[in-house]
Amino acid sequence: MATDTARKIGPVILLGPPGAGKGTQSKKIVEHYGIPQISTGDLLRDNVALGTSLGLQAKSIMARGELVPDELMYGIVGVRLRNLDCKRGFVLDGFPRTSAQAEWLENFLRIEVFDKSDKCPPIVIQLVVDYNQLLVRLTGRRTCLACGRVYNLHLNPPLVSESCDDDGSKFYIREDDREEVISSRFNAYEQQTRQVVNHYRDQHQLVAINADRPVETVTAHIFSVIDRHCVHGC
Ligand code: ADP
Ligand code: AMP
Repeated sequence: MATDTARKIGPVILLGPPGAGKGTQSKKIVEHYGIPQISTGDLLRDNVALGTSLGLQAKSIMARGELVPDELMYGIVGVRLRNLDCKRGFVLDGFPRTSAQAEWLENFLRIEVFDKSDKCPPIVIQLVVDYNQLLVRLTGRRTCLACGRVYNLHLNPPLVSESCDDDGSKFYIREDDREEVISSRFNAYEQQTRQVVNHYRDQHQLVAINADRPVETVTAHIFSVIDRHCVHGC
């Protein structure tokens, strides 16, 4: 049960390379503040699984570890953010990933989601983890087939091997968590997403957090950033 559901939170943007903990921390924010997680990776994987037109276009790009074209992303993100459950706020996990997406989001938030009298500036948090640790995290990532809970074989293993503590279901390994694809995803991050981080830093909107600490320690730090921002920012 979420514990802090009365006040407006606004957009929370989690930035960081693959494996930094965006999904893990998004779920903690969802539980605590009762706002939804918008994971563009999950939205795309759902489209691939359903065989939609978007999924068919995205499938091979994702398998190579490259970024899906911006124009395809605006459609799914726009539809999702217009949903009523986003009115108090939302956590963006995996978006924006290019400078064009960041610009699109700024316009979208200004024009569509919050009107001028009712506007919370985004809280932009960068999760910082070094590449050796990211590789350990990504190669050990396992996801429950039934509930989507994310484990790590090296760092956060289940009680019984290869099955979910909550429902006993089997795990799956993400296709793009193979080492040869991981290097291409890191490359996409450095070539395209690093500029987004720099943009928010230049705007003095970025809070960088050391995310190479236990999950609960990182969560506590993120909550303190959100709580401080909501006192001063909203
Ligand atoms: P992202 O969404 O940024 O790609 P995830 O949240 O899926 O990253 O985390 C990647 C892997 O690292 C998962 O297996 C997860 O259990 C593990 N993980 C996440 N945060 C931490 C942490 N603070 N310490 C150790 N392992 C972590
Ligand atoms: P993630 O689950 O965030 O690691 O994303 C998995 C894959 O989905 C990425 O490697 C990209 O191929 C694609 N993807 C997710 N979000 C975006 C985005 N904002 N822009 C472009 N491609 C994306």
